Amino acid sequence: MHDLAKGVARFRQDVFPAKKELFAHLAAHHTPHTLFIGCSDARVVPELITGCEPGDLFVIRTAGNLVPAYTPGADGVAASIEYAVAALGVTDIVVCGHSACGAMTALAHGHDLSDAPAVADWLRLADASLARTATAGDVPALVRQNVLAQLANLATHPSVARALAERKVTLRGWVFDIATGRIEELQTTGSTAPLAA
Ligand SMILES: [Zn+2]
Repeated sequence: MHDLAKGVARFRQDVFPAKKELFAHLAAHHTPHTLFIGCSDARVVPELITGCEPGDLFVIRTAGNLVPAYTPGADGVAASIEYAVAALGVTDIVVCGHSACGAMTALAHGHDLSDAPAVADWLRLADASLARTATAGDVPALVRQNVLAQLANLATHPSVARALAERKVTLRGWVFDIATGRIEELQTTGSTAPLAA
């Protein structure tokens, strides 16, 4: 088993002292500027790839960075979105897909998920993205379609709809490439542009 205790000790000894003032401030303040919705994939680390500090990002991570469209009822993703937007007042929301996404690969290649029924049910939320992807098995295209679909789903959440109407929030779609570290910002028209050279 990986020894997390060693990592915790290293954090207490080296990392925390260097950021002591930041954590003292954060102890009484929670004012993230961005709601970051990414994949649960271990290789996509929101603070690392955006150069952010603790306190900057309010993070939701789901398999395939899927955001279900709003439906009334208890829903952890919806509750976190509402809290970030309505209570914390984030000004930016990023949905970040990524290369080699296991969820999107399973969907694009029609993997048998009968041994993972919860995953199968969850991924059905991306059926429309799959239908919109022109070439079967094209994982990068599906990753992009999926990010755009989640931006549309986000706008169905009342808190987001309100913030958009009042021009208080900006939605962004990103794709992170694990091999190069590049982030592409997707345009809603379908074209893409690198976020930074
Ligand atoms: Zn993924």
